[in-house]
Order: sequence, then structure tokens, then C-alpha cells
Amino acid sequence: MISRRELGRGERVLPGLFRLRLPLPWPGVPHCNAWAVASREGFVLFDTGMHQPDSLAHLERALGMCNLRLQDARLVVCTHAHSDHCGQAATIVERAGCEVWMHPSHEHLTRIVEDPDAVFARRIEIARQSGVPEEPLRRYASGRSSQGSGIAGPIEPARDLLDGVVLDTDLGEWVAYETPGHAPSHVCLFQPERRLLISGDHLLGRISLYFDYGYSPDPVGEFLNSLGVVERLGARLCLPGHGRTFADVHAHIHGNRALVHERLSSVREAVGGEPLSAFEVVPHVYGDSLSAQNAHWLLSKTLGYLTHLEAIGEVRRIPGEPERWTA
Ligand SMILES: [Zn+2]
Ligand SMILES: [Zn+2]
Repeated sequence: MISRRELGRGERVLPGLFRLRLPLPWPGVPHCNAWAVASREGFVLFDTGMHQPDSLAHLERALGMCNLRLQDARLVVCTHAHSDHCGQAATIVERAGCEVWMHPSHEHLTRIVEDPDAVFARRIEIARQSGVPEEPLRRYASGRSSQGSGIAGPIEPARDLLDGVVLDTDLGEWVAYETPGHAPSHVCLFQPERRLLISGDHLLGRISLYFDYGYSPDPVGEFLNSLGVVERLGARLCLPGHGRTFADVHAHIHGNRALVHERLSSVREAVGGEPLSAFEVVPHVYGDSLSAQNAHWLLSKTLGYLTHLEAIGEVRRIPGEPERWTA
């Protein structure tokens, strides 16, 4: 449950542009942002926050602080198909009678909504194949969160948010740029005259990497490529999916790139000796920080790095139970 002290909050960033800070139930990630941009006597809502028992009240509270009402949403745009960015889309669309736009590669989420058990079973299978021992696997399986999927209901995008799709607001047009890596469905939205970038989880103020593993051939390679896409835009102000706005966009792009390369060299080094399972690689990269809470997160990232090094011909996977990796 969301703690009582954490309430949805809204603040004006620029005339016609508002940050809605919404609480999350996740340790270490206390809130996410949605952004409201004035449009046709209402607003376009970029991202939605996660669906929780009291989450709609937090969103309405945040909007109220900006003198906005939920029913005046003219369009919902989701930067990517993670619950904290699209979880409330179904409810908002129904309340406001507007459309939702999203990138078509949202299977990684749709599958969770339609069949959470199958997705969870697949995670366990990947973990087992990656060398996670039986005991922690059992603990992970039994401690499975009772939070639900965080998604209010099925999302049926009226329009595919692909490269070059344009949407209109009172602050001018925003152009969609596909930026897969963090999630296969990730897009950033850029307002060229004001050089504003709604960056979702592609660029965050506090650099934090994550890659959905298992839905595309090389998420880390895609992420690096997407950093280049955003770099060429020359954004002046970044409106991220979590945390405050920031202006030094280029420094953040460089910081992300540097961290990916640092992780890749730790992984490369780890598999330079004896062949290791992905699970055995994790402490070489992240120390002893592996816990039941972050195991899925760290393993996904490590598998992402290994797969990228495999794609560029630097490591090789040795099939088996568990699967091992060698330089
Ligand atoms: Zn995300
Ligand atoms: Zn997020």
C-alpha cells in the first residue's frame, strides 16, 4: 500500500505544462511522473501512474493542484508499457472519453495483464536456466507480490506511436521518437521549438538502467542506439518519468552511455575465466546486493549485457542447465 504521507502532487513547470508526481508502492522508487500539457481547453496527459486501490484519487489530487480536472483529458499518451506509465490508462480513457496512444510493441505488458501466471512461470524458467539455485527460486515464487499487475484494465491504443507521429498541444506540436531499450515499446516525445523532451524512463535525472529482457534480440544495443536518437534532438529541458526535470540533457546521455560501458566491461571481465551462469555473473557486476526484491531486476540487466556482448561477438553462450557464458 501507498504510505499515507505520500500523496499525489501537482506543480506548474512552465505556463501550460504541469508535473504530476504520483506515489508508487515500490521500495527505492517512491514516485513516478505524469505530465499534463494544455490542449484545447483541457490537456494532453503523458503517462498515467500505476493502478492501485487509491491511485485515481492521487492523480485527481495532483491535477486539482494545477486547476485541472480528469474529465478534461483530451488524449492519453504513454511513453512505454510499464505499469507506472500506463497503469491507469483504461480508467482515464473511460472517465474522459478520450483516446490513448502507445507504441505497438506493448506485448511485454499485455501478456502480464492477460496471463500473469504464464509470465511469472517464464520468469522462473529464465531464472532457473540462468543458474539461480532452487531455494531462492522457491522463496521468490512463494513471496510473489500480491500487488497485482498495476494495470487497471486492457489498453486499446487508438493510434500507434511510431517515429514521426505528431500530436498537437497549446505549447505546439510534439513528435514521437521510438527509443526502445528500457522497454521495447518505449518512445520519447519532443517539442522542437521549446526543445522539451518527455523522456519516460529512457533518461532519468538519477541514472538508473533497466532493460526488459526476452522480448527483443538485443535490448542493451537498442538502448545505446536510442541514446544516439535523443542526443541528436538537442533537448534543453528533460521531463523524465521519475524525479525532477533537468537541463543538462547531454551530460545525462553521456552518463548513461558510460554506465552501460562500465557494466559491459565488468560482465566481460567476469566471463573471462571459467564459464559462468548469468546468476554467477551478477555479484561481479553488482557486488552482494542481490536480494529477493531485486533479483529479477539485476538478472534481467545481466542477461541483457551478456546478450549484447554475444551480439557483438565478444562472448558465447554454452547451452545447458544452467546455461553458461564464456569470453
Ligand atoms: Zn519503465
Ligand atoms: Zn518508470
